[in-house]
Order: sequence, then structure tokens, then C-alpha cells
Amino acid sequence: MNLVFWLVLVVLVVLALKKKSQSVMPPESGTTPSAPPASAKEPAAETMVCCARCQIYLPASEAVHRGQQVYCCDAHADNS
Ligand SMILES: [Zn+2]
Repeated sequence: MNLVFWLVLVVLVVLALKKKSQSVMPPESGTTPSAPPASAKEPAAETMVCCARCQIYLPASEAVHRGQQVYCCDAHADNS
């Protein structure tokens, strides 16, 4: 009885380790070189906007809006 318990325990540990090693393995990359490889990792990619003054890209949530234009910071929004 004790031996069966240990056998089951060993099998469970081996299965858990196999699962872990599979999840650690990186997803297939290189099939689409133009697409960003991290797209699968990020659950919800935030919309990126471009500053109308310096053309830097930043998340829409961090952007400064002035009318129709979007800026990266208050200084760029006010100086235009
Ligand atoms: Zn800017």
C-alpha cells in the first residue's frame, strides 16, 4: 500500500514537471518576422498614439489631448 502511494506521487511529480517545462518553452517565433513576437503575451495591447510635436509614440492613456491633437506631455501641448 505504501509503495503504491509513492508510485502515484512520483508519477504526479513527473507529470507536473513535464507540464512546467512545456509552459516555459517559448512559443514559436520567426514564422512572421514583421509581426511583433510579444503580441501573444500581452493580453490587451494599449493603443499607441503619436505626439504631434516630436512624433514620439506613447500609450493613449498617458497622452495629453489638446483639441484634435495628441501630445506626449503638457510642454509639447502648450508650445504648439
Ligand atoms: Zn512630444
